[in-house]
Amino acid sequence: MAEYTIVGNSIAANSAAARIVSLDPGARVTLISDEPEPYYSRCALMYYAMDHCCERDIYIADKVHYERLHAEVVHDRVVGVDTENHELALESGDKRDYEKLLLAVGASPRRMGIEGEDAEGVYDFTTLEHARKVRADAERCERAAVVGGGLIGSEVAEVFHKLGLHCDYFVKESTFFPAFCSADQSRIILRRFGECHINVHMSRTLDRVQAEDGGRITAATDTEGDRHEMELLVRAIGVTPRTEFLEGSGVDVDRGILVDDTMRTSAPDVWAAGDCAEVRFPGRESSVIQKLWYTAQPMGWIAGAQMAGADDRYEETITYLSAMFMDLDFAGYGEMPAPWNGLQEISLTAANDVDSARIVHDGEKVVGITFLGTALTKEDCEHLVLEEMPVETACDTVRALYEAKMHDRAPKARIARRRRLSRRPPFWPFGRKKTWRV
Ligand SMILES: Cc1cc2nc3c(=O)[nH]c(=O)nc-3n(C[C@H](O)[C@H](O)[C@H](O)COP(=O)(O)OP(=O)(O)OC[C@H]3O[C@@H](n4cnc5c(N)ncnc54)[C@H](O)[C@@H]3O)c2cc1C
Repeated sequence: MAEYTIVGNSIAANSAAARIVSLDPGARVTLISDEPEPYYSRCALMYYAMDHCCERDIYIADKVHYERLHAEVVHDRVVGVDTENHELALESGDKRDYEKLLLAVGASPRRMGIEGEDAEGVYDFTTLEHARKVRADAERCERAAVVGGGLIGSEVAEVFHKLGLHCDYFVKESTFFPAFCSADQSRIILRRFGECHINVHMSRTLDRVQAEDGGRITAATDTEGDRHEMELLVRAIGVTPRTEFLEGSGVDVDRGILVDDTMRTSAPDVWAAGDCAEVRFPGRESSVIQKLWYTAQPMGWIAGAQMAGADDRYEETITYLSAMFMDLDFAGYGEMPAPWNGLQEISLTAANDVDSARIVHDGEKVVGITFLGTALTKEDCEHLVLEEMPVETACDTVRALYEAKMHDRAPKARIARRRRLSRRPPFWPFGRKKTWRV
């Protein structure tokens, strides 16, 4: 009977465990996790934090789930891996042998590296424990702040808005999501934040956190020297693959844990999947780190297959992302970071100054599209990329779509329904959920 040890208890880990037991029904699986909760939806943390659901609503796993996976869950932290002796060192002092090992440890939040950032009331927002603290603190605070112009930062700003807190939001870049949004889209998103009384400070980040005697945050100074009072601060400036516990282990690490398209690492009987993995596809020079729920799932699935003896390979898919900024839908399909790829962009904004598309092209054909507002859907847009449509034709198509939607007789009903659905706790990929790429 083969034994499989998985470090992690989230999407990559559980997807691997599911694949292992489907191929090896006699498998014995151990999941080791430093989070005490059962497998939950990290993507739904904002809904819990803004009190739209309770903690149990975001759990994906229950006892039956683990029974089906023949899995035992151990609550501990792995602090070292001895790949020569096939042994794990745990924070509790225990040692554990492994036969086949999967590292599905995700990524950890970046620190700002500024004075005072360890003050009480300064939190990350990547675990349920963080969300609990933010939610509890928000109840007794009036002034909150967020630093970081990524998708987690914008989610947290929305949480503070929904909880009725005064919110300062610091974004280092001069436009919102420059990798994904046109200048027009950035302007429309910023206008929406303003309408919701979120004070967005563009081209600014934080320089120093001030705390009272007891150590609790009272204010922070931004990079322009302005002081902002706050009782609660969320740091959302990105995440990096967790690799520190692999020092001296013989598992090769660069920006993440290096794997090939079989998710195998450099060490025998060790695989890695999800946010912690850096994938080098055969025949390609650059490697990719994908920090997304919807990519962690297939990575785990492939790793599980390989561990159980099947020869499945991981393939990169066309990027699709969707998010929501205060009820404004945002989605993208295909290649998006135009300014850095030698690609060009065309911005088309509808007469309502809300619906706006950014068409990314290589001079001839469309390679990506992002759209904001409520007018277009994935179905409206993906064919422009899949059919590699000529730029002019794509622009005409989008203009015609905007035109048609303006005359849509039931737009309000459609929008209201989408908003209702979007407020449901999103157990993506099991129900409707915005997904995003970082
Ligand atoms: C607030 C938020 C919202 C998000 N929303 C979206 C979204 O809408 N769409 C989307 O596609 N993605 C979203 N993401 C990203 C998505 O959650 C991640 O890409 C995904 O969770 C990665 O899965 P994973 O299994 O690789 O790692 P993780 O989910 O990070 O899980 C890592 C696991 O490893 C365990 N672990 C780590 N180190 C150790 C150790 N040393 N010893 C033992 N256990 C350890 C942890 O306890 C955890 O169980 C969001 C992330 C956050 C934080």
